[in-house]
Amino acid sequence: MRLHTSTHSIDCPYCGEAFDIIIDESEPWQEYIEDCWVCCRPIVIGAAVEDGEVRVMVRSENE
Ligand SMILES: [Zn+2]
Repeated sequence: MRLHTSTHSIDCPYCGEAFDIIIDESEPWQEYIEDCWVCCRPIVIGAAVEDGEVRVMVRSENE
């Protein structure tokens, strides 16, 4: 089975630092939390896959 992953650039909603995340395109919708490697605060990352296009949304945990 081939893995469908892609790399996306996001900005930390707390400190604004940009970094790359890897999204699994086999999931139509996913949400998970990843700690920012700069400020260590939890970033809620949501990714929606529509027609092969990945849309990534980030927000802070208490929004
Ligand atoms: Zn940060």
